[in-house]
Amino acid sequence: MFENLSNRLSGVVKTLRGHARLTEANIQDALREVRMALLEADVALPVVKSFINDIKARALGKDVIGSLTPGQALIGVVYEELVKLMGEHNDALNLAAVPPAIILMAGLQGSGKTTTTGKLAKLLKEKQRKKVLLVSCDVYRPAAIDQLKTLAQQLEVEWYPSDVSQKPEAIALAALDYAKRHFHDVLIVDTAGRLAIDEQMMAEIKSLHASLNPIETLFVVDAMQGQDAVNVAQAFNATLPLTGVVLTKLDGDARGGAALSVRNVTGKPIKFVGVGEKLTGLEPFYPDRMASRILGMGDVLSLIEDAQRTVDHEEAQKLVKKMKTGKGFDLEDFKMQIQQMRKMGGMTSLLDKLPGQVSQLAQGQIDDKLINRIEGIINSMTPQERAKPEIIKASRKRRIAAGAGVSVQEVNKLLNQFEQTQKMMKQFSKGGLTKLMRGMKG
Ligand code: GDP
Repeated sequence: MFENLSNRLSGVVKTLRGHARLTEANIQDALREVRMALLEADVALPVVKSFINDIKARALGKDVIGSLTPGQALIGVVYEELVKLMGEHNDALNLAAVPPAIILMAGLQGSGKTTTTGKLAKLLKEKQRKKVLLVSCDVYRPAAIDQLKTLAQQLEVEWYPSDVSQKPEAIALAALDYAKRHFHDVLIVDTAGRLAIDEQMMAEIKSLHASLNPIETLFVVDAMQGQDAVNVAQAFNATLPLTGVVLTKLDGDARGGAALSVRNVTGKPIKFVGVGEKLTGLEPFYPDRMASRILGMGDVLSLIEDAQRTVDHEEAQKLVKKMKTGKGFDLEDFKMQIQQMRKMGGMTSLLDKLPGQVSQLAQGQIDDKLINRIEGIINSMTPQERAKPEIIKASRKRRIAAGAGVSVQEVNKLLNQFEQTQKMMKQFSKGGLTKLMRGMKG
């Protein structure tokens, strides 16, 4: 799944290679791929449609920056729009109420509501030093009440006892009264869920909301539900004035597309994501990280930004020209390529930023040490040798090796690599950084 997405996106980049601007004609295929990528990531169809229209409007005619390919520029636009759609920043929990600040938990059964209640209690207790009270209003499942009690004991957080003979509203109001009298900062109210949307459940949580008037009403939704998450989110959003969303089970294979859909249909910020069954598995939601996840592209955009910032454009252009023809490309240029890669933060950090597949392929084959060695060897050559590597025969090799503190075999290896790179140069045009690196493998 992950690989498919990365492949699709590299496909997009390839489709547009060689075009100087994005135009309606060359953008169609690329957008189709982006559309498929989003659908595979479980973003709901209507959301994808309107999103693609927005992207198209923005991407058309966008100039390609420096030596970047239009494909990369398009992905850049897609990424930026995804981040924007998901709210740009993290939205923190709002606890600015006359104590206790009430957090009402809503969601289907199995979405992770009770677990999230425990995780939030832990976070508030340990990170914000809040005095927390937990209460369960799930009078239909005694096991749910027990589950919360066990969690509370584990966390050493107080819980308000309830039992199945009581009415949910009565339990909640009694807990609120208790919390006021005992100076709790926060009261988290866990509620009953159902396996599917159900009118009775909705009516119940609505009246709970009306009598508690919580400052936060969090909708908990399972990211693995994919497209279904949208319908559920719509139903809850229509019933309750939600203040935020918690997207759970993102530690699984979920692509994260649900984040975009849920955010889009509810218009409410995703405040947290659940990333594990353990109580530590709750993290603030970051739109930029989720956008990368949806696109399945590692941190490829910061890679592009790094390249824009650090690569000397004039020099790069000259190099690109030589690369295109393979003519006049000598060891001096080879060294310059390597130096540019170093400027971009070293190979290891560069590789980390490439899409999964490419990165895995390249990892282990080249590293910073190798680059240092290559540079050392080239530095030991005379200008004449760098310009005409073919004159480097046995005695010169020995001298170069001694100068760089390496073996003659390593000098041979470098000359081989250079030759291969030179050949490859003839085969690809600008923007082929990835291929270039593959060509350098040790
Ligand atoms: P509730 O019915 O909504 O209260 O759901 P529970 O809190 O009982 O969670 C249902 C199941 O999902 C349990 O097995 C939890 O351990 C699991 N779960 C909840 N959140 C996460 C999460 O973020 N990641 C993973 N892997 N499992 C989770």
